[in-house]
Formats: sequence, structure tokens, C-alpha cells
Amino acid sequence: MENPRNTAAHNYYDVIVIGAGASGLYCALTAGRRGRRVLVLDHANKAGKKILMSGGGRCNFTNYFVEPEHFIGSNAHFCKSALSRYPSWEFIAMVEQHKIPYHEREHGQLFCDDSAQDILTMLLDECAAVGVQVKLNTHIEQVKTDENNKKSRFELITSKNLSKKEKQERKDSGNQSKLPQTSYRCESLVVATGGLSIPTLGASGFGYELAQQFGHTLVATDASLVPFTFTDKTGELIRTLAGISLPVIASNERISFKLPLLFTHRGLSGPAMLQLSNYWHVGETITINLLPEIDMTALLLAHKKSHPRQLIRTVLADNTNNALPKKLLAALQTHLWDDIKDTELANIKDERLIELGATLNGWQLKPSGTEGYRTAEVTRGGITTDEVSSKTMQSKYQDGLYFIGEVLDVTGWLGGYNFQWAWASGFVCGEVV
Ligand SMILES: Cc1cc2nc3c(=O)[nH]c(=O)nc-3n(C[C@H](O)[C@H](O)[C@H](O)COP(=O)(O)OP(=O)(O)OC[C@H]3O[C@@H](n4cnc5c(N)ncnc54)[C@H](O)[C@@H]3O)c2cc1C
Repeated sequence: MENPRNTAAHNYYDVIVIGAGASGLYCALTAGRRGRRVLVLDHANKAGKKILMSGGGRCNFTNYFVEPEHFIGSNAHFCKSALSRYPSWEFIAMVEQHKIPYHEREHGQLFCDDSAQDILTMLLDECAAVGVQVKLNTHIEQVKTDENNKKSRFELITSKNLSKKEKQERKDSGNQSKLPQTSYRCESLVVATGGLSIPTLGASGFGYELAQQFGHTLVATDASLVPFTFTDKTGELIRTLAGISLPVIASNERISFKLPLLFTHRGLSGPAMLQLSNYWHVGETITINLLPEIDMTALLLAHKKSHPRQLIRTVLADNTNNALPKKLLAALQTHLWDDIKDTELANIKDERLIELGATLNGWQLKPSGTEGYRTAEVTRGGITTDEVSSKTMQSKYQDGLYFIGEVLDVTGWLGGYNFQWAWASGFVCGEVV
């Protein structure tokens, strides 16, 4: 029988990983450590672009407290096996072994002291140490299977992914010839192409298309961990407050987060909003408690009795420990109680104070949308996890085909959880390919 290693030795690999991002590199180094011959292909001109951008350039690479509850997806159980087999301390041990300085921020989030580059360098060094080859600027034109050949199940037809400049040069010179193709064969094919967020960092829908080619279904995708936008009058109000940040409780019917909120020129951002966006669908209302520590209805009614001549703004300014920045207080006044702004408490009906208190503790807002994939940290939805083994990440429809990382319908909270999923899913897959 024909041995694929002999026929095209230099283009045969035990494992080909598509995507040199977080999950792809982790899977590659894990498989490489087992002695597998691994090739990582990426269409981008640089590996791990999202790693470099992450955590404001310091990469929130994992979290001390990782639980399945920190992940969403249509099958809530899917992530459990990989997360338990690859806990966060495994990755922390690797970071320490490479002497990468890091620190903990609130809620157990771990960041590099210096630069996200440290994490990428570590992954690439570990890959190089076990002979993993990384080939960038590679456009994958086609993926074919050879069902009769167990060793060389997949053939990938690739060509050079031209840069904008190269494309222009070809156009200018009138060169319309087909680019030379290169064929690669492998036994195991791992799809680690990530989600759709931030196309300028190399995101593409290729992984979804490939999954569909093999009969997989998709859970509808949407931008997530993303700021909200507003078009109505609330939008105008919010824009005037750009730059203001305060701790709030942001909630909807499914979840609530006690975290900072940030007003921006485009809408509402900050950790509270990003977290809530994972649980939000178009058309839904969100609730923001602007003064989580104070029962505002009780406060206003009590002051009506004890200080009947006071104005609402005075009560708020004097009794909330400056929780509401002055500019926000003034804007809320214009927006919520402009008609009674100079009316003494004694002359305001209890019902109105109750209503106002309820609004300050539960401001109902209807976002018009989100900033979308342009700024989203992740993509919600993806390849249906019921069609993939939770233990190995292998397709239930095609032997030797695997999906890892964000391309799957697994989305983590803000706080290092998405990288932890990338490492964990990459690890369990790298152990079997
Ligand atoms: C700005 C930003 C900041 C973030 N910060 C954090 C953070 O601090 N902590 C955290 O946990 N998560 C963070 N995330 C999320 C995290 O980066 C991702 O969840 C994680 O990188 C997903 O890993 P992945 O391997 O699935 O995909 P990626 O890391 O996105 O890698 C996918 C790779 O596939 C390649 N690819 C795509 N299409 C093709 C194709 N057609 N052919 C060949 N190659 C292809 C891409 O070029 C890329 O290299 C952040 C995301 C963004 C955008």
C-alpha cells in the first residue's frame, strides 16, 4: 500500500492546524510534545494577532476562578470536560516556567506585567522546541478528503495569501496568471480559525464554512463582549456624558453584573456593559442601577419627612457619597425630573418620588444595537457543540476533523475566560490528534 509519508514526505504532516491563534498554537505545541509532526497554517502575516491586542496589550491570559458558569453556549455542559482536564493553573505553571512576570487584578484576572508579546513568544518558543512548523500568509483554497486512506485523510490546496500591496502590484502589471498552488496532506485536521470579531486582525468565517462542508450546523453568530449603542434621546444624553465611569449593577432577566459602567461618544461600555452584552439580544431592555448601595426610594421619602424644603438634587448630592459625578447628576435631572427640579420635596407627590427612586435604582434602557464585530472581543454562537466530542473536540461527522477555540459555540465572560477556553480546548485536542 502507498505510504503517504513516502509519496510527498515534505508535505505530509500528522496534524495540520488551521489558525495560528491562541487555541491553534496551544493544540500544536501539545501535539508536538507527543512527537506528532505538526504544521500550523494561517492566512495572516503574523501569528497570534489577537493575543497581542488582548487585555489592552497586557493579555488577560486566564483567571484564578474558572467555572462552567463563566461560559455561555447552547449546550452548557460542553465546556466542562476540557476545562476540568486543563485548569488555569496548568497555564499559569507554563507562564511561570517561562519567567513571565504577571499580576492579579480584581475578580481573579491574571495579566502580564509587561506585554502580551510575552505570551505569544512563549507559545511560539514551545512550538519551535517540539518542531511545530508555522506557515503564515497562506490562503487555503480547498480542503478535500480521501476516505480510503486512513493516514492521509485530508488534502489542503493552498496558495500564497497576497498582501494588499502584492495584489495591487499584480493588478498594475496586468498579471492575471493563477498563483502557484501547494498541496498538504494530513491525518488530523484541526480548525482553530476563531470567530468573526475584528476582521482587521485576521478574523474570517472560514471555520464555519468548513464545518458546514462536513455537514455541521451553526448556532447564529453575533458580536459579543461589545459596547451598546443608542439612537434615541437616551443616545444623545449618553454622548454628552462621554468619559464618565461609575460602578453600577447592570442586569437583564437572565443575569446581573456589579461592575463599572463607562459612558462613551458611541454609547455605553465598560466591564458591566461588555459582560451584559453576552446575554443580550436585539430588542431587549437592559437595567442599570446607578446607585447600587442605596435604596433611593427610601432615601427620597425619608428626606421628604426630615428635610421637606430640600431639592432632589441636594438630597442626591449630599447623601450618595458623591457616587454620581456632578455632570451625570445634572444630566439625569434634565432627563428625569426637569419639571420639578426647583420644587421642594414637601411639594412633590410620594408617587413621583417612588417612581424616581425606582428609576435611579433601575434605569431601563433599550439599546439600538452594539458596536458589532468591529470592536467586539468575541463572537457568540458558532459551530454547534452537540455535533462535536466534548472530550476530544473531534467532529461527530468526520473522523480526523477537530474544532477548537472560539469557532465553537462556547463564549466566555470577560476576565481571561476566552483564553482559558482556547488553551483548554487546544490541549484536549492536542492530546489525541
Ligand atoms: C481586542 C481583543 C482583546 C481581547 N482580550 C482578551 C483577554 O484579555 N482575555 C481573554 O481571555 N480573551 C480576550 N479576547 C478574546 C480572545 O482573543 C479570543 O477568544 C481567542 O483569541 C480565541 O482564540 P482562537 O484560537 O479560537 O482564535 P484566534 O486567536 O482569533 O485565532 C484564529 C486564527 O485563525 C486565523 N484564521 C482565520 N481565518 C483563517 C483562514 N481563512 N485561513 C487561515 N487562517 C485563518 C486568524 O488569522 C487567527 O490567527 C480578546 C479579543 C479581542 C478582539
